[in-house]
Amino acid sequence: MAVGVLALQGSFNEHIAALRRIGVKGVEIRKAEQLENVSSLIIPGGESTTMAKLAELHNLFPALREFVKMGKPVWGTCAGLIFLANKATGQKTGGQELVGGLDCTVHRNFFGSQIQSFEAELPVPDLAATEGGPPSFRAVFIRAPAILEVGPDVEVLASISIQTTKKVDPSSSLQSQEESGECDGKVIVAVKQGNLLATAFHPELTIDSRWHSYFMKMSSNDNEIVAASSSSVYEDEERYLYNKQPKIDLPVYE
Ligand code: GLN
Repeated sequence: MAVGVLALQGSFNEHIAALRRIGVKGVEIRKAEQLENVSSLIIPGGESTTMAKLAELHNLFPALREFVKMGKPVWGTCAGLIFLANKATGQKTGGQELVGGLDCTVHRNFFGSQIQSFEAELPVPDLAATEGGPPSFRAVFIRAPAILEVGPDVEVLASISIQTTKKVDPSSSLQSQEESGECDGKVIVAVKQGNLLATAFHPELTIDSRWHSYFMKMSSNDNEIVAASSSSVYEDEERYLYNKQPKIDLPVYE
């Protein structure tokens, strides 16, 4: 079975391309019944309020919640993380509907507005232990959320030191979090809870495929959808060396 990618808005094409690079077929999901044909799902980044409105319009929320409850692997990236969180702060007036399931509180635009988007070298010890490759991951944060609190069953896979983020606007949420003492200099940006994976950044925009192959391994625990080809680029030494070239290290949209 293929991997479903919620295709209402945002970077669904980029996820499908990233899956293709590791030999996995991704299919666009726009209707509830299409979820029956996939055994795992990626909810991409984009704009969570818009995505929620579209999901509501297409009556997708009940089917998405059911998919999560059935224990099928679901990965939310950025806006997708907001979708999966049990609680979100910093939402637009009136809030927005969430799929939920992930026991955490997420701040919607934690790092500020679009122009405060940034890239950072993120320490990823768990990912490197499973997928090989370097101990860090070049993460692209676009008007990114951050996870403020997690429940006891949530495994933290990556945190970012907020000093390493660039150009913090004095009026941004990051600043107010710091001032109110809610941050101890680090915020959580990647987590796993059972069948759920969530990242505040965009692994589909870089050539490093380790998060995609990590997710495929989560999927293969319950399902037989992973072909032998779904290894990360770093499991093949030749391709790893190739990927160490600076040109390849750039985001794929370059
Ligand atoms: N903060 C954005 C939102 O609320 C998400 C940004 C992203 O997905 N790149 O939807």
